[in-house]
Amino acid sequence: MQSFRTHIPSQFSLPQRISRLGELAYNLWWTWHPEAQRLFSRIDSQLWEETSHNPVLFLRRVDRSRLNSVTNNRYYLEFYDRTLRSYDQYMTTDETWFTQTYPDLRNRPIAYLSMEFGLHETLPIYAGGLGILSGDHTKEASDLGLPFVGIGFFYTEGYFTQYITEDGWQEARYTTHQLDTLPVLPVLDEDGQPVTISVELPDRDVFAGMWEVHVGRVPLYLLDTNIEQNSPADRALSSRLYGSNQDLRICQEILLGIGGVRALRVLGYNPNIWHMNEGHAAFMVLERIRELLEADHSFEEAAEIVRETNVFTTHTPVPAGNDEFPLWLIDKYLARVWQQLHLTRDQFIDLARNTVSWGDTFSMPVLALRYSRGRNGVSQLHGQVARRMWHYLWPEKKEEDVPITSVTNGIHTGTWIGRRLMNLYDRYLGPDWMEHVDDPQLWELVQTIPDDEIWAVRRHLKRKLSAYMRERARQMWVKGGRHPIQVVAGGVLLDPYALTIGFARRFAPYKRANLILSDIDRLLKLVNNQEKPVQIIFAGKSHPDHEGGKILIQEVYRIVKRSESGGRLVFLEDYDMNLARYLIQGVDVWLNTPRRPNEASGTSGEKAALNGVLNFSVLDGWWREGYNGKNGWAIGKDMDYTDPVLQDQEDSESLYNILEEEIIPLYYQTRSSDGLPGEWLVRVKESIRTLSPQFSMRRMVKEYTNRLYLPALQKRNVYELPEARQAE
Ligand SMILES: *Cc1c(COP(=O)(O)O)cnc(C)c1O
Repeated sequence: MQSFRTHIPSQFSLPQRISRLGELAYNLWWTWHPEAQRLFSRIDSQLWEETSHNPVLFLRRVDRSRLNSVTNNRYYLEFYDRTLRSYDQYMTTDETWFTQTYPDLRNRPIAYLSMEFGLHETLPIYAGGLGILSGDHTKEASDLGLPFVGIGFFYTEGYFTQYITEDGWQEARYTTHQLDTLPVLPVLDEDGQPVTISVELPDRDVFAGMWEVHVGRVPLYLLDTNIEQNSPADRALSSRLYGSNQDLRICQEILLGIGGVRALRVLGYNPNIWHMNEGHAAFMVLERIRELLEADHSFEEAAEIVRETNVFTTHTPVPAGNDEFPLWLIDKYLARVWQQLHLTRDQFIDLARNTVSWGDTFSMPVLALRYSRGRNGVSQLHGQVARRMWHYLWPEKKEEDVPITSVTNGIHTGTWIGRRLMNLYDRYLGPDWMEHVDDPQLWELVQTIPDDEIWAVRRHLKRKLSAYMRERARQMWVKGGRHPIQVVAGGVLLDPYALTIGFARRFAPYKRANLILSDIDRLLKLVNNQEKPVQIIFAGKSHPDHEGGKILIQEVYRIVKRSESGGRLVFLEDYDMNLARYLIQGVDVWLNTPRRPNEASGTSGEKAALNGVLNFSVLDGWWREGYNGKNGWAIGKDMDYTDPVLQDQEDSESLYNILEEEIIPLYYQTRSSDGLPGEWLVRVKESIRTLSPQFSMRRMVKEYTNRLYLPALQKRNVYELPEARQAE
């Protein structure tokens, strides 16, 4: 399919016998295969920690003598051979779900465009939930054998590193990432020159190079404007994720949408499906129509072809969260595009005009909705909200008939499961349970796991979290410049055996991080109970330009710091995928308190459930579908409020009542026969059994495939490209 090759750099000078470690380091397959991680950590476990589990950096730094020593170790070599066999098997097999279910469609590419991809913490090209979802989707597309290709950005500075001052104020720090320490490979032509694409901005062309990331079988291409052909200002265009400058933003979206199509063309792709993950990628519609006009289709034909092959997923029930541009900005940046489309300015604006916000705007989701055949929200409730929100685009239809469906988000099992728990499931669900993770029948076997074994794993994961927090706090202290209270806030006084609640998410006001702090005296009574203490771990970033979010962090941090909190309330800095893994595996209860219906889906609670952590959440997003009365707890009622003050009051009352009357007693209530919290474990198993299959990424990607991709995939390749655009 692709006409250019990326080469694994021969920078590593590895002993011949284990030279394929270089190849493994450059395929993120290792991120969801613990045996591949062990291949690195066994060479030098300390360095593996020091390099934050980044194999590329690890192989650059590792001592030759260490490498030589494992080449003399028979056990290591056997393990190496076995792991590479399973890697080769994975990469070359023809027996995947997709190829077996749809053998005729295997050569019909599905392109997936997203502003962020959360694949691993060392590849910092994601900010939060949206990116994690793209990353998980891509990994599962690989596992299921979909003919999938991703387009995104390489951000030289990524998102920011969060640092909290002694007074609880979030500071954002940016680092420039060293490309040669990351699992990205330049896309080069036959002469070894970078392959570039360009897009037209008002007074200049902007160029972008491409980096390829191997995500198992799936290639992901990242656009990067930091190349010689560009002016210094343009080189910085793709340096950061989600700047709040509107000019920067529209340029990035022009690059993603228009540049993304051109990148795929240069690489030789003619996708049958074009999936826009959120409205950021919607300019893609314009470029695809332009291509078809060039191939002598009429505008109507072109629009129809584009619509038939596009899929759009919306993630934001909050109107302000939707991407839209003032018309002057459209005039400034897209005047050349409407000429290319042979449209007048007004006709062009009409493609995406949004009249319901402050004056007319050019709305990315409107453009995407109008020019997609498959449209979906990310949970059933979000689907309803989206149908209401966009009803005015289909005024002739009843609200429930607005053509926006929903596919509830899921999580990629291999990425999020704790290793010990995986071993336990291997034993009781069968060694290939992950292949059938979306089959509810399989999960009936959870009942066969002995209580003491599952409890032992739960305790282990919690101790691991404790040890990790202590080590982070120690590092913080050793590096200097910190007040001792910041070390306490980092969790050193936590008891690894006390009931521990986790709350980690973006600090946006609607997520109400402070709901559990709304009656602080009532909370502190629970926290400081001698016999049955409660601990809460907070983590999360606020957008660096969002004062409201930063004030919220400060509010939480100030309470965390109080001596009355006894060191049992904790705020951990710099929430990322690594910290997320520790938290969703290590706590007992996962708390989520969005102001319904603002949480489109949420996925962190799904990760927690897979790991035997119980959810305690508002009936919003995925939890409204997951909660069955026995597999966790619901905060508040299954209803919509019009008065947010009343809603907050009722939700907080409900939260405290359930905590006091149900959660705490249940956790500390042990059986006299074996000392285990028997009733708690009944819930844990109920939660694992009911939630793991339903909220798996496997279920989700199959659903996207069957319901949203399939109709267009099944048509013959719907159009031919004009000669000029076809690669080679
Ligand atoms: C899973 C995850 C998220 C998204 O979780 P929500 O429940 O939507 O908040 C955000 N950030 C990180 C680092 C994650 O791992």
